[in-house]
Amino acid sequence: MHKQTISSIRRALAAREYSSAELCQHFLDRIDSANPELNAFITVTRESALAAASQADEQLAKGASSPLLGVPLAHKDIFCTRGVLTSCGSRMLENFVPPYDATVVSRMQSAGAVILGKTNMDEFAMGSSNENSFFGAVTNPWGEGRVPGGSSGGSAAAVGARLVPGCTGTDTGGSIRQPAAFCGITGIKPTYGRVSRYGMVAFASSLDQGGPMAATAEDCATLLACMAGHDPRDSTSIDEPVPDYSASLGDSINGLKIGLPKQYFAAGLDDTIAAALQAAISELEKLGASFVEVELPNQHLAVPAYYIVAPAECSSNLSRFDGVRYGHRCDDPADLEDLYKRSRSEGFGHEVKRRILLGTYALSTGYYDAYYLKAQKIRNLISRDFTTAFETVDMILGPTTPTPAFELGANSSDPVAMYLNDIYTIPANLAGLPALSAPCGFSGELPIGLQLVGNYFTENKLLNVAHQYQQVTDWHSQLPARFA
Ligand code: GLN
Repeated sequence: MHKQTISSIRRALAAREYSSAELCQHFLDRIDSANPELNAFITVTRESALAAASQADEQLAKGASSPLLGVPLAHKDIFCTRGVLTSCGSRMLENFVPPYDATVVSRMQSAGAVILGKTNMDEFAMGSSNENSFFGAVTNPWGEGRVPGGSSGGSAAAVGARLVPGCTGTDTGGSIRQPAAFCGITGIKPTYGRVSRYGMVAFASSLDQGGPMAATAEDCATLLACMAGHDPRDSTSIDEPVPDYSASLGDSINGLKIGLPKQYFAAGLDDTIAAALQAAISELEKLGASFVEVELPNQHLAVPAYYIVAPAECSSNLSRFDGVRYGHRCDDPADLEDLYKRSRSEGFGHEVKRRILLGTYALSTGYYDAYYLKAQKIRNLISRDFTTAFETVDMILGPTTPTPAFELGANSSDPVAMYLNDIYTIPANLAGLPALSAPCGFSGELPIGLQLVGNYFTENKLLNVAHQYQQVTDWHSQLPARFA
């Protein structure tokens, strides 16, 4: 059962080939046996999952059909879940049980999903390796001792090892796409504003966006349709109808024009990744797509600009964790200042503290113009590069990551080396554009991802190109031998 995609699971459930209860039990058993090694889940909601699965079975027996009825899924532990621990990978929220559901969570529940648990992540979504979680590092199912990527590393490892057929993730600078690439799965970061951020713990509000992670583009289309849509509780959510993403999956891509940014195929890209991308380009050419070189001249400024904007917003967002209202509180504070200081010192990990300090510095009087304002100007230039490119091409193709999954600990003492992992993913966040990663080969045993970046609200096109590619390749259906 675990080898099936969400699409085939939906068909099998509707045909009553197996029940949702059997299916959920199967995945819960897989979680039990693999999680001690992978550490992909922080919380497993076994009882509520089995109860929801039985309810779904009753509905299915009556012939009911909602898009995710009886389908087991999991949420990144950044999404608030009523009555269920929502830690955001932090000691600060080690005991936080929200009294409400995030919009994404309630939407997926209304669509009939059965939630198996909450997945591990870098603390407050800050990281590219999932080594920054208070609950311990996650490991990559493809290679012992390798990172799964971050910050949605628990979701990526869980889907990569088929402990669950699909998960939610969030992407501020690459956190859906980079771990999807490292774990051999498909993931899409939608256009900024497409998916509600209500109930999604904030890291950098102008960049954060939730999205789905699953084996195939077809499954991501199903999940995204259930997650997306206007939400009056998120003022940045966009009031545009949600297209039927699955409906465009059959569209021919004959005549599609895809741009290859010169800057993405330059020095620094691993040879095996460059070769896998060339092979993918040939496959897409056979399907009728044509490729032209495009220029994204300001791309090299994306990482430095991001590491001003994201920490600045994080320093402001995380000021709410003060030991007073909720979250970690130190023992026996001497006075108010001691309460703030010790609660925050104890509750946050190293990387989060580093970002708060960087962000506070960049926003402080005298430095604001030099850093924050400049970074915002660069952000504009980067958006404009894309706008110009989309005048001549329908979408852009490039690598998701410069290298395959690296070893645990490899970049831990060098934050800049770690930050450079997101060199190809960050530009789409700065511009607010939709971007997808899909598996396109292997470097030895380790999966490789290709990235497609599209114009605003062209998720359907990105999903369709990835889907067409997945009809003629089988990278997306490979499983690590240990979890086959
Ligand atoms: N790796 C990037 C960071 O550390 C992006 C994280 C994310 O997308 N949440 O900020």
